[in-house]
Amino acid sequence: MGEIYKVSCQCGYEKELKLGGGLASLNIRTVRRLFSDEKRAAFEAYYQSKEVQSFVVENEPAYCDACREIMTVPVLRARLVHGEGLEIIGDCPDCGQKVQRLKDLSCPLCHKALKQEIIGHWD
Ligand SMILES: [Zn+2]
Ligand SMILES: [Zn+2]
Repeated sequence: MGEIYKVSCQCGYEKELKLGGGLASLNIRTVRRLFSDEKRAAFEAYYQSKEVQSFVVENEPAYCDACREIMTVPVLRARLVHGEGLEIIGDCPDCGQKVQRLKDLSCPLCHKALKQEIIGHWD
């Protein structure tokens, strides 16, 4: 189950982010819905040849330079039978550009650290 975070800043900026994984996060159909053919080409090749041992899709925080906004993007992590890992990162859901992943959430307006609280769960 994923968590819904509310992030807020002293300057008044506020946003809700759905982080983590939902019920559909282990489903191949979810992978096909969330990632373009191009993005999942490598994963599909491994999947078809049964070299994917396990995979999970989780929402992670990211920042889009073009939109100047914080958001979540789907990140697929797969473990391959040979022990290697594969990671695919979704693009900005609004403009389709490549995003930067965020470790620390800071306000897109004033760049101060954002306050984070969990306000609920999503499936
Ligand atoms: Zn964008
Ligand atoms: Zn701010």
